[in-house]
Amino acid sequence: MTKSANSRLAERYRVKKANAFRLKKIDPNDRAGLESEEKAAERLAEGVLRLADLQSRLYAEHKRSVLVVIQAMDAAGKDSAIKHVMSGINPQGVMVTSFKQPSAEELDHDFLWRCNQRLPAAGHIGIFNRSYYEEVLVVRVHPEYLEAQHLPEELVGKNVWKHRFEDIRNWERHLVRNGVVIRKFFLYVSRAEQKRRFLSRLDEPEKNWKFSEADVKERAHWKQYMRAYEDMIQNTSTDEAPWYVVPADHKWFTRLVVAEALIHSMESLDLEYPRVDKKRKRELSAARRELIENG
Ligand code: ATP
Ligand code: MG
Repeated sequence: MTKSANSRLAERYRVKKANAFRLKKIDPNDRAGLESEEKAAERLAEGVLRLADLQSRLYAEHKRSVLVVIQAMDAAGKDSAIKHVMSGINPQGVMVTSFKQPSAEELDHDFLWRCNQRLPAAGHIGIFNRSYYEEVLVVRVHPEYLEAQHLPEELVGKNVWKHRFEDIRNWERHLVRNGVVIRKFFLYVSRAEQKRRFLSRLDEPEKNWKFSEADVKERAHWKQYMRAYEDMIQNTSTDEAPWYVVPADHKWFTRLVVAEALIHSMESLDLEYPRVDKKRKRELSAARRELIENG
């Protein structure tokens, strides 16, 4: 796949004008004209090889890191996107963190605390399967979660979400200024497709383990979630840390878009293997001679 084809598909879903973003303009069923799952799988396989090469350069460079944030409603395909997109990558260079309901210890700290500890080190790719963005999504939809956060009452006014957006933007800017490349993906599944996937978790015995009554209950809040997602994207899409809103009714398509967005982003870093200078070259030659002569 050529560089420009990679970037074209990914660019289509990158949010460019934050204020103008409307969820209703994106169709979860969209496939950008790609109809063949088989062809997409071939294209993904090429992409996986390309990503492996880019990751190995990132690791060798040991300066920048890549943070991939993935947010979605249940059954949108977060896990399978991670599994497929990262399938060729050296496990030493990547860390996936799945953020669940916060622990008592985590609730005793500010909302970015637990994510700070899981940031990718230089040379690494870090994947956040859910993230600090839950703090303006599930916590917004369920105000009782906010109440559990031990915050002084006078600090939790009507501007609390505005403040959280601002803090997230500032924190991301700080990270970007320190070499963290941030790419954020909202896997946008439709309510109807989510229902189909829940039904298949009930109907197919090998998927039964994935079923959760709580996930079905959450569907009652679909509209509030979509409003929260839209507001989040409008307020936290920046040039330096963009959101991609990826149609997620077809898992094969979702994976391809995520892979190509990452490839495009990492290619733009011009990652080079560190070069050795003349002095080091002489040292390497000396080491080679010694190995052959004495060893
Ligand atoms: P899977 O179901 O595929 O294992 P998951 O990400 O849905 O993956 P679960 O353990 O089912 O994992 O759910 C995690 C839950 O934790 C989600 O409902 C999510 O909204 C919730 N959660 C994550 N972060 C927070 C937070 N900061 N505050 C409150 N709830 C949170
Ligand atoms: Mg779940």
